Amino acid sequence: MDSFIPVEKINTLLKRTRDVPLRDINSIIQKGISLKGLELEEAAALLQCTDKEKVNEIYCAAGSVKESVYGKRLVLFAPLYLSSTCINSCLYCGFRRENRVAERNVLTYEEVALETEVLIRDGHKRLLLVAGEDPARCGIDYIERAIEVIYGTRTEVGGIKRVNINVAPMSVKGFQRLKSTGIGTYQLFQETYHQPTYRRFHPAGPKSDYITRLFALDCAQEAGIDDVGMGVLFGLYDYRFETLALLCHVRHLEGEFGVGPHTISVPRIEPASNSPISKHPPYKVSDESFKKLVAILRLAVPYTGMILSTREDAIFRDELLNIGISQISANSKTYPGGYSRKDNSGNSSGQFLLGDKRTTSEVINDISRHGFTPSFCTACYRVGRTGREFMDYAKPGQIQRFCLPNSLLTFKEYLLDFGADNLQKAGEAIIREQLASIKDQKIRSATKKKLKEVEEGGRDMYF
Ligand code: SF4
Repeated sequence: MDSFIPVEKINTLLKRTRDVPLRDINSIIQKGISLKGLELEEAAALLQCTDKEKVNEIYCAAGSVKESVYGKRLVLFAPLYLSSTCINSCLYCGFRRENRVAERNVLTYEEVALETEVLIRDGHKRLLLVAGEDPARCGIDYIERAIEVIYGTRTEVGGIKRVNINVAPMSVKGFQRLKSTGIGTYQLFQETYHQPTYRRFHPAGPKSDYITRLFALDCAQEAGIDDVGMGVLFGLYDYRFETLALLCHVRHLEGEFGVGPHTISVPRIEPASNSPISKHPPYKVSDESFKKLVAILRLAVPYTGMILSTREDAIFRDELLNIGISQISANSKTYPGGYSRKDNSGNSSGQFLLGDKRTTSEVINDISRHGFTPSFCTACYRVGRTGREFMDYAKPGQIQRFCLPNSLLTFKEYLLDFGADNLQKAGEAIIREQLASIKDQKIRSATKKKLKEVEEGGRDMYF
């Protein structure tokens, strides 16, 4: 199979759009605001725009697109690392097989349950399972059982409702098994779309095969996993090329399956233990460029969930919430056992170092202060609103008919079960305000009714 990334075309567009007149930039921004998405050339023009005022307009436009599609809600999740063993050699990663310093670990099922319990008691309903590539110790049999253990773990405050997955690609058969465990989204990042750079940073192991990785989300779709997530590890190659190539991947999936990515993740390379390249990324992306690429992705793919991890520091994360991010992780630990181990000894052996070390309740406090509604919603996956059906709601901005009420119900539940007194007061004020902002009177009264039920002890309410 040949790559579907049109390298020549991307390079030509990047040359051609170096000096696009500001009036054309204006029209592109207006098109973005209208939720029509962007053509490759339009995205290239915005990526090359350096006019400060226009760049600020791009940020504002991205914020308004996010709000038109998803409203004020911000979905929260936590990663759960199953293993730190890996047979690949990715030069930027603390888990690479040559790294003799890192402690190696695959969680037992008892440990998976312990980690899950801690996360449930922290308020989480949605997890992202992460594992290194290690078919002998952490293959599909292990992953299937681990997911079963997570869904089966219950505490006095409920359980995990949705498990998303970020593990190595599989055959269509493997993906079918994964699908039948009841996963939400399957995520896989290409890391870099630039093939020579890919070869350089992935010198050995199955992951060194660029083409197999490029078509892995096709395999997942063929296996029936209709919510897939993609991403780039920014810093390995020119962010402008990567952003346009990622958009080509989006259009490829839309063309082949009629469904684009459910999520796009934007990890930026962070120092990892004993991985010199991660400390000196060859194409370090500045904060300004990073903000720009996040905003442009939001304008280009308005319907997608955009995920920001705890790689970024707290202040910068809060800033990015206003320009298109719709999902964030909180209280992350990036090594197996990180939540339930008392000694934190695995900290330095994490996959990368964390920028945001706030607890979940601190993140929730800050989100609320910035006017967003924290959401633990898992409704779409529960009612089968996935793939094309999800897109039919998300593309015209109709999904917030569900997102907003569900964010209020799950936030209310969080406040009652986990919220400290000061958060309760602020949280209730946000709920009142957001409830009043629901325009459809029927939805507003239905939400009010369900909020009352939550108040009276009802749990796990959603539309
Ligand atoms: S309603 Fe659907 S899209 Fe909205 S937050 Fe819930 S699960 Fe996500």
